[in-house]
Amino acid sequence: MTELNIDKLISNFPLLQQVIALEEVVWFNPNVTTLERGLPYVGLGEQDIHDASLRLQRFAPYLAKAFPETHVTNGIIESELIDIPAMKLALETHYQQPIKGRLMMKKDSHLPISGSIKARGGIYEVLTHAEKLAIEAGLLCESDDYSKLLEPEFRNFFQQYSIAVGSTGNLGMSIGIMSAKLGFTVSVHMSADARAWKKSKLREHGVNVVEYQQDYGVAVEQGRKEAEQDPRCFFIDDENSQTLFLGYSVAGERLKQQFELQGIVVNEQHPLFVYLPCGVGGGPGGVAFGLKMAFGDHVHCIFAEPTHSPCMLLGVHSGLHDEIAVQDLGIDNLTAADGLAVGRASGFVGRAMERLLDGYYTLTDEHMYQLLSELNQAEGIQLEPSALAGMPGVIHVEQNSEYLARLQIDESTLANATHLVWATGGGMVPEQEMAAYLAKSAV
Ligand SMILES: *Cc1c(COP(=O)(O)O)cnc(C)c1O
Repeated sequence: MTELNIDKLISNFPLLQQVIALEEVVWFNPNVTTLERGLPYVGLGEQDIHDASLRLQRFAPYLAKAFPETHVTNGIIESELIDIPAMKLALETHYQQPIKGRLMMKKDSHLPISGSIKARGGIYEVLTHAEKLAIEAGLLCESDDYSKLLEPEFRNFFQQYSIAVGSTGNLGMSIGIMSAKLGFTVSVHMSADARAWKKSKLREHGVNVVEYQQDYGVAVEQGRKEAEQDPRCFFIDDENSQTLFLGYSVAGERLKQQFELQGIVVNEQHPLFVYLPCGVGGGPGGVAFGLKMAFGDHVHCIFAEPTHSPCMLLGVHSGLHDEIAVQDLGIDNLTAADGLAVGRASGFVGRAMERLLDGYYTLTDEHMYQLLSELNQAEGIQLEPSALAGMPGVIHVEQNSEYLARLQIDESTLANATHLVWATGGGMVPEQEMAAYLAKSAV
């Protein structure tokens, strides 16, 4: 890795002064381009998403039986799309600014099996691996009814293999629960910020939880090392995995269907803005990719990060991607938003998606707690702190006349816009823990 000259970096990118001072910042990338021009850099396309979608359909009969909570959706893991009118009012009061468009929320926080956005990518990658092993062993073919995977023969087969992952919590939950259910031996390497209840829940499922005093980067590295020593161990690489990314991307076509059912139009006169909390980038990046493929240039994706962990903003803004970590700037990567506590962004996601992401902003932990409490009061919905990061996005967009002018969005178009806050986690937070979150916010 090349030696970083921080002073030079700051003089080239003055916004970094505020980032280093842990101030909340907003950056709309002037270099975004059309889907047509941006897509070649992603290296994945329509067919890849379609394959992922079909794979999830093949597994649906199995999931419906293995996880009864997915029975109602026939084994498809999907979340609700809702209006949050009372929260819209609360935000207008909070920021002393009217919100012109429609405010909605995507409740990935309440996805079945693991209660976070990771139920998309994490579970998908475990299923992909299991399918590959079973097909190679001649135990399964794509035309089978996959509910046969519940038979002891398969559990015995998967027991010979192991899966490892490094996580701040939610990815470990998804991968741990799914892998253990299939019969795999699974190790989850948890960073210091991982919540105790997530670790105990995993242990209840028979998952081997390895704890670290260091952050996400170290947990991932150790997981990677363990896996390298064992040819039967598969390491799920949150920093680079295209499979994870594709699992998340299926959200795009699913959202499009939900919009159609609810009669919500997305086109030039009716733009869609989506606010996605970002950790390493795979989840929001994959979802954004799926959204771009589903809605084209009329969807605008914006990433949100904690002021203490602005890794994607830093990587894309400086162009250094995974060659720089927030710690290089003296930023500590300590945040209550455990799902977002990542110091170094995925190089794959940043490089693949930077031309298709409209902007990035940061917010403080106090701000997230405050919004957590406001959402609870307004809508009776409880989320974990990370999942609130998308909430102020609509305010930034509607305030930024330069950005709106660049998009050629005028007042009347803005009134037609839909703003979608991607709520990424919180559905499984224990009551006591939630009470502690609520107590922390002084509203
Ligand atoms: C993991 C996570 C994210 C971000 O996903 P990345 O793939 O790490 O960028 C956002 N919110 C919650 C609650 C998460 O668990």
